[in-house]
Parts: sequence; structure tokens; C-alpha cells
Amino acid sequence: MRELTHLIAGVATKGDAQRTADIFNPSTGAVQGKVWLGEASDVDAAVKAAQKVQPEWGNTNPQRRARVMFKFKELLEANMDDLAAMLSAEHGKVIADSKGDIQRGLEVIEFACGIPHLLKGEYSEGAGPGIDIYSMRQPLGVVAGITPFNFPAMIPMWMFGVAIACGNAFLLKPSEKDPSVPLRLAELMLEAGAPEGLLNVVQGDKTVVDAILHHDDIRAVSFVGSSDIAHYVYSTGTANGKRVQAMGGAKNHGIILPDADMDQVIADFSGAAFGSAGERCMALPVAVPVGKQTADEFVGRMSEEMGKLKVGVSTDDSAHYGPVVSAAHRAKIESYIEMGVKEGADLVVDGRGLNLQGHEQGFFIGPSLFDNVTASMQSYQEEIFGPVLQVVRADTLEQAARLPSEHQYGNGVAIFTRSGLAAREFAAKVNVGMVGVNVPIPVPVAYHTFGGWKRSAFGDVNQHGPEGIRFYTKVKTVTQRWPSGDVTDQSFIIPTMK
Ligand code: NAD
Repeated sequence: MRELTHLIAGVATKGDAQRTADIFNPSTGAVQGKVWLGEASDVDAAVKAAQKVQPEWGNTNPQRRARVMFKFKELLEANMDDLAAMLSAEHGKVIADSKGDIQRGLEVIEFACGIPHLLKGEYSEGAGPGIDIYSMRQPLGVVAGITPFNFPAMIPMWMFGVAIACGNAFLLKPSEKDPSVPLRLAELMLEAGAPEGLLNVVQGDKTVVDAILHHDDIRAVSFVGSSDIAHYVYSTGTANGKRVQAMGGAKNHGIILPDADMDQVIADFSGAAFGSAGERCMALPVAVPVGKQTADEFVGRMSEEMGKLKVGVSTDDSAHYGPVVSAAHRAKIESYIEMGVKEGADLVVDGRGLNLQGHEQGFFIGPSLFDNVTASMQSYQEEIFGPVLQVVRADTLEQAARLPSEHQYGNGVAIFTRSGLAAREFAAKVNVGMVGVNVPIPVPVAYHTFGGWKRSAFGDVNQHGPEGIRFYTKVKTVTQRWPSGDVTDQSFIIPTMK
């Protein structure tokens, strides 16, 4: 059975770990490996390894750092099939979706390849008599990232891709549910020419997270996961003087106006609500059709479409989605379906009890559809993170728009309409961080930034794009004077430019 270790100073080691966690294959339900769960001393060893190499890496000119990122990108492309197979086997998403996961991370690496340009500072010539001012962005030192199970390739690369290109050394704590791909990415970084110790992986659970949050020499922490833990990481990390960005859960709404292209809407919801078994923070688990006619048509056509969805093992190319990540997570999703029924919503399609022949122990669950869900229901207010689509009917656009704006989460939202004016006003006013107009999963490209609002993100700076560069660097501003003669003036008042 495979044993997953840390990678500290370029060396695979179990360090001081005493405990392990099982790694499942969600398609079969079988344990396929074990991951060692680290201790605080492993975090300390990783920080020390990082501190050894960071100063030199930070002083390496950015073109040279970019070359490592270019080489890493080539290695990702060359290893795409193996990485996707590894990812699907632990996560459960189908192979094509795993390739998408890796590709979206690769695009952040492409962004990071532009680091010489991205780190250019600002310059003001002649800000005063003989005075020029310039600013520069310098790395923070050793920084850390804590990642969730649902994007084991993309999210680590959101973080270490940008942080390392900026000149930092990085400590990655991947999800213990699917740690193989993050570990493999760190090995590929070594192969790409990153010095040993620049990117360390410490496997583990809360013990490692707490050690990161309390370590004096870790300057910044980037977190993605569920909201309660995100809030904990944000408050503990900032209380310990760290810069923290902590992305949390989501409940994204798709507003359907009566003039929307219903063929497109059905196709978009089908992929966005059920793709990856709904285990995406930018999934679309709430539909808000405006008007009775739109709602009746949507529910009728959606339930028909759902009958055509194929749930299969992650290696089945014809499957639309695979199993969820664990038996416990499936049980949680089922309990939300039970809750929805008890709360009085209409369960139009029930995905529970799906039995895949030959894979009876796999963590499968079929797609479910609820109609007549209301904003007061707990099953609506909370994140389900599974293949469950809830329809909340609205009479007007104003009523529909209030739902995502007033929801505790504010990650993504979409509006489906042919009206430019309605879409424009909605996009400007909605209280949510990322908006799609006829785009069901509005994940911004790598050179823009990713981040939600409200309980979907704690901290002010987003992931990747220009905000990622700001997060992983600090600004230094130099005011310089090169006088032509001796400096004789003496002043005891604050200098001003008269
Ligand atoms: P999770 O919160 O259970 O775990 C995330 C990380 O926190 C893991 O590395 C885990 O080991 C660690 N962790 C778990 N419990 C902890 C504890 N008590 N103390 C300290 N650390 C702990 O999340 P998950 O189930 O892996 O991922 C799914 C969640 O992530 C969903 O809520 C989803 O919406 C969210 N997510 C958000 C975004 C975003 O950008 N907003 C992106 C992807 C996923």
C-alpha cells in the first residue's frame, strides 16, 4: 500500500509523524494508500529548510526565476495524463475534469512566467528638487498555503506558483484526502530547477495547520476550504501577525430571466450544478427562475435533462460525473436532502440510493432537484457541496437579485438574459464577488483575480492575478536625492513640496 510522505528540503520523509489517514479511491470505496500526518516539528523542519534557500532565491533575478516556472509548465504538460489519472483516483472526478483542474493551475503558472514584468515598481522623477522616488516589491520570506480536497492541482498552484515566482519559499499543507497530486507537483518543481527546500510539502491535519498559524517565521498564510475553518485560520493567523487570505464556502445562484435562451440555460445548469458531483466552490446549486412560466419550463426541462446524466467511475470517459470524495461526505449530502424534504421543499428528482453495478462500495450519489425552496430553509442557507440543485422561485428580478445579495455566502453568481441593461445593472449592484453574465461558472482567468465576498472570503486580497502579486510581496519606497553640492540645509519641520 502506498505511503504518502512530506517533502522537506527536497527529501521524501515521514519526519516526526506518528499518525496516518486513509486515502480512498472513491470509485471503489477501497483504501488505496495512507498519508502520514505531520507534527509541529515537521513544520519547523520545513520552515528551516525554506529559510536556508529563500534569501538567495529572492535575490535571484526574476528572469531566472521565470525560467524555472517555464520549465515547470513544460513538465506539467508532459505529465498531464499521469497527473490526471492520479487526481481522479483520489478525488473521484472524471479524467477530463481532472485535466481541467490541472490546466487551470497551469494557467496560473503561465501568469507567473511573466514575473519580471509583474514585479516592476513605480518611479517618479523629480518629485522634489533633485529628488526621485521609486518603489519596489520584495518577497515576504517563508509563506504557507493550506488547500482543500476539491481542486488538488489548481489551488496549490494558485498559491505556490505566484509566491515562488515573487521570490518567496513555500510550505504547502494539502488536503489529507487527496495528497498525491500536490506532492507530485512539488517533485516536478524540483525537476524544473527549484532549489531543494524552496517548495516543501508537510502532510497533515489540524495539528499542522495550527503549527503553521503559530510559527513565528511564516510571514503569510493562504487558505482555501470551508468557511468556519477559513474564519479560524484568518483570525488566528492575523492575531499572530501574519498576512492571511482565507477563502471559504459558497452557495452560488443562477438567476434566469424570462428572455433567457432556455436551451443554453439547461445545458449550463446541467454542467455547473452536477459537474464534479457539485464539489466546486463555483458550482451553481441554486436556480432562481423569474416568473411562473420560466420556473415551470426550467423545472420540467431540467428534470428531463437530469434523467440523461450518467454517473460513473472516474475513469469512465462517458460519465458526466463520478463519485463524491468520501462516504461521510455522501452521508452529509443525503442528510441535506432529507432536511429539504422535512422543510417542505418539493423533491422532484431524488438522487439517493444510486447503485452502480460492480461498484456498490463506491461513494456515488445521483443528481437531485428540489422545487419551491424558500430563503428561510436551512437546506438553502447552508452549503451542500453535492449534486443537488435547489429552485427558488421569484416573481421579479428585484426579488431574485436580493437572494444572492442577502445570502451569507458571496462567492459567485450568474444571470441568464438577453437584456444587456438588466445584466449590467445586476452585475453592478449584486453583493457577490464574481459575476457571470450568461456564463455559469464565472471563474476569472489567471491574470485577473479570484475571490468572493462575505463568508466566502476573509481578508482583503484575492488569489492570483495582480492581487496575488500584492499578497506575496511587500512594497518598499525609496526617496533619493543626489545633490550637486554639499547638503547644508537643516530643518526641524516635516518636509513638504512647496
Ligand atoms: P475543509 O475546510 O474541510 O479543509 C480545508 C483544509 O483545512 C484542509 O487542508 C484540511 O486539512 C484543513 N482542516 C480541516 N479541518 C480543520 C480544522 N478543524 N482546523 C484546521 N484545519 C483544518 O474543506 P474541504 O472539505 O477540503 O473543501 C471543501 C470546501 O472548500 C467547501 O466549503 C468549498 O466551498 C471550499 N472551497 C472554497 C473555494 C474558494 O475559493 N472560495 C475553493 C475551493 C473550495
